[in-house]
Amino acid sequence: MFDKFNEECALVGVWNHLEAANIAYLGLHAQQHRGQAGAGVVSLENGERARFYAHRGQGLVADVFNDFDFSRLPGRAAIGHVRYTTAETASLANVQPLQAEISMGCVAIAHNGNLINAAELREKLIGDGAIFGATTDTEIFLHLLARSPKNVPKVETIITALEQVHGAYSLLVMYGDRLFALRDAYGIRPLCLGKLDGGWIVASETCAFDLIGADYVREIEAGEVLELSMDGKVKSYFPFGMAKERPCVFEYVYFARPDSLVFGRNVYAVRKRMGRELAKELPVEADYVIPVPDSGVPAALGYSQESGIPFEFGLIRNHYVGRTFIEPKQAIRDFGVKIKLNPNSDLLDGKSIVVVDDSIVRGTTCRKLVKMLRQAGARQIHLRVSAPPTIDPCFYGIDTPQKSDLIAANKSVEEIKEYLGADSLVYLSMEGLYRAINSDKTSFCDACFSGKYPISVGKPRSHKQQELFNV
Ligand code: AMP
Repeated sequence: MFDKFNEECALVGVWNHLEAANIAYLGLHAQQHRGQAGAGVVSLENGERARFYAHRGQGLVADVFNDFDFSRLPGRAAIGHVRYTTAETASLANVQPLQAEISMGCVAIAHNGNLINAAELREKLIGDGAIFGATTDTEIFLHLLARSPKNVPKVETIITALEQVHGAYSLLVMYGDRLFALRDAYGIRPLCLGKLDGGWIVASETCAFDLIGADYVREIEAGEVLELSMDGKVKSYFPFGMAKERPCVFEYVYFARPDSLVFGRNVYAVRKRMGRELAKELPVEADYVIPVPDSGVPAALGYSQESGIPFEFGLIRNHYVGRTFIEPKQAIRDFGVKIKLNPNSDLLDGKSIVVVDDSIVRGTTCRKLVKMLRQAGARQIHLRVSAPPTIDPCFYGIDTPQKSDLIAANKSVEEIKEYLGADSLVYLSMEGLYRAINSDKTSFCDACFSGKYPISVGKPRSHKQQELFNV
């Protein structure tokens, strides 16, 4: 069940705006870092009869909507989605938002997160005669909604569906007359609410609001189902009571854009403090602090400011890296990593450097980087990681390899240092991480660093029975 493919995604929803689809597209563009495999927007025209229009495609937002005529997506409401996935599930059928005609009318849905009991639910639904056209977990929600009786309030169709799913999700569900924005009871994946020209906007990250000039209002709360209707009414429900929030700490470490406000904190500021904490934990003498761009930049700045060691760009990034490259027959040394990062030899020659990155997953990139930096003349390389060792996979929507491929799950810090070829290696401690976030560790999901999963990844249970375990 757990070797399934995780999906990293971003959501955007626009409610009551003249240019809803165009705004949704811009919101996706701002959140492109959360997924590059596919993008889509579904708009809703709410005349005498609600009609949905869709445009989806594989690849980057700018490519999917290249020269796109937005009059093909009319209406004052729209939802959009970008997805990251592995090649195995990268088919157009999986590109969201998904839409369908069910007893309540048209419905479109976009999802960020992962369901723990997806395989069981799928098997059961197929056994009951459901027809699946995609392999994404998101389609399960559609089938659960489709099974709701026709005459119940739409919010109840959502609650009944949620009672059956078990996992992490931020979700947008658009019916012909209302939009629901919701987060699972632990609020693992982000979702926030903004205002734009008298209408509403929801997005995974606030950097989407900044691009389109929307005002941030608040987060959709953990366990909240927010209902926006055409008559302007906004209703909020907490159908499963108040569970303890456990948002994903990895959003701060790597995933979110630094200029976003996530779970109430500016990501850039948190990352810089992670670097400061790292500098305090085991000081070292060096000529320069070098970030691994882009993910290591804010932490390296924090490290530099705390330690007093000058910050320099010792690795230069090529920003135009696409998906695949045709390597010449005669293999080029370290081609895979060089295509993205190149050492600044003039700066590095004979120098002792602190190299800061946000995380080491398999260790493959880092090992090549260390080799490249040595070839460029670095005398001493002190690796510093601005997060604790990644020892367990994420089952809640961040793409991580299985445990056997996580270097820190299988080797000691000393062994990792040897494998990477560094002169020293220090990870940020769990205490340092939470000092940087200014929170205590029971407030976040840090399963990737602790192995403590707030939502059971063992036997699936009903949503109402979820309980914290292992904490
Ligand atoms: P690795 O070579 O597997 O150790 O890769 C480590 C690099 O991958 C680090 O520089 C991270 O910034 C980056 N990284 C960490 N988590 C993820 C993720 N879920 N998806 C893509 N890249 C990641």
